[in-house]
Amino acid sequence: MKIVNPATEEIIREIQEDSLESVNQKFKCLQVAQVDWQIITLAKRIEILRTFSDLFEGNIEALASILTSEVGKPLQQSRNEINGARARIKWLTDNAAKYLADELMNQEGNLTERISYEPLGVICNISAWNYPYLVGVNVFVPALLAGNAVMYKPSEYSTLTGLEIEKLLKEAGIPNNVFHVAIGARPVGELLLELPFNGYFFTGSYKTGKYIYEKVASKMVPCQLELGGKDPLYVADDVADVKAVAAGTADGAFYNNGQSCCAVERIYVHEKVYDQYISEFIKEVKSWKIGNPTEAGVYIGPLSRKDQVAFLEEQIRDAIQKSGKILVGGKRIHGTGYYFEPTVITNANHQMNVMREESFGPIIGIMKVKSDDEASELMRDTEYGLTAAVYSSSQSRAENILGQINSGTGYWNCCDRVSAALPWSGRNHSGFGATLSHAGLRAFTKTKAYHMRG
Ligand code: NAD
Repeated sequence: MKIVNPATEEIIREIQEDSLESVNQKFKCLQVAQVDWQIITLAKRIEILRTFSDLFEGNIEALASILTSEVGKPLQQSRNEINGARARIKWLTDNAAKYLADELMNQEGNLTERISYEPLGVICNISAWNYPYLVGVNVFVPALLAGNAVMYKPSEYSTLTGLEIEKLLKEAGIPNNVFHVAIGARPVGELLLELPFNGYFFTGSYKTGKYIYEKVASKMVPCQLELGGKDPLYVADDVADVKAVAAGTADGAFYNNGQSCCAVERIYVHEKVYDQYISEFIKEVKSWKIGNPTEAGVYIGPLSRKDQVAFLEEQIRDAIQKSGKILVGGKRIHGTGYYFEPTVITNANHQMNVMREESFGPIIGIMKVKSDDEASELMRDTEYGLTAAVYSSSQSRAENILGQINSGTGYWNCCDRVSAALPWSGRNHSGFGATLSHAGLRAFTKTKAYHMRG
């Protein structure tokens, strides 16, 4: 497998993919090692994962540079991601004892009723490339804390980072064969679906998630899917500072080149503030430095995947044909690297693909609306359900709209953010199940109900 730098199109490394034999071998080793791992005390498992997090800090420049070289995100955003992963590990390790300990539910006379949280066993984590540290940590850290062994398949676009994670986990003290990396693309993922894992935890596209869910259904083991989104954002007419809202929401749409599962993917703006909002939004987008992601100050680097360039061009062509106006950008940047101009499309409507299918790139459609009701109806018009955001001076106004939307997350005066203390979950085509929070710690366990008399 060739690892290509999306900024330079150079091959950085060639790596041997896993085979049927090597995957089977790793799986067998995981099964044996898991038995011992689950009887190590939780305190010891917490200590190892805290050490793992500390190793991030000591190696941050090298890790950020590897991440940038394979996914193309600006170096500062790579550093931010690693620091973000550390914050999540902190929350998960600080709270593991509280949420994974046995729970006494009832005591009546000589009857004790309690819940015990047992590990699932050996779990399979097939992951995405856009935030390999963050989406990886969401799964393998709580899984390991709960006493599971993990087969981690990084995306083929973030293989080197996957290997760094494995190296640091070992250095931190994870025993041999408790964590393995499966190297490769779709065919290696397919091999994993054939093995008798005790749970499947997938982060990626709706298309692949649906396929995996159907494929593993007959195994009767837990399967969680963290999928894509078409996340809406509404700017109401009572926002206090339109300029600040425009800057904040533009960042929500374009951070990491729009390649975030919870990136703002469509914007609705009340007609009373529309003109000012658009003018400030455009100013913000035009202020960004585009270029090599290793250069200081660059906000827009290359896209991570070459084929996404043609996909975005097609969304733009479709939008123009349906009377969309391109106010900024609109095309690929020719030359070396998978660069695309940050693009703002106004006069958008829901017949356009850019308002319906996940763009996962630096392109945003904006629509003018007359009322909260119109905004709310348009926000609900989607098959996805990851996040939704409302900007308004009034909390009750925002909550009224957010309450009507079938999404796993609601934001008031913020967007494109994840907190380790809250469940991260999608609905409909955005998937199901939760990572992070107490729900995400317990997702890697099975409950046993103890009825104890005596
Ligand atoms: P993808 O679906 O193309 O690939 C994800 C993983 O699945 C990769 O490791 C890939 O090798 C593997 N895979 C592909 N086909 C497979 C098959 N047939 N069997 C088994 N494994 C297979 O997604 P991607 O491009 O890596 O990631 C982008 C998508 O992920 C976007 O839709 C984004 O919104 C979503 N995402 C969601 C979240 C979330 O938390 N909800 C987080 C990050 C990304």
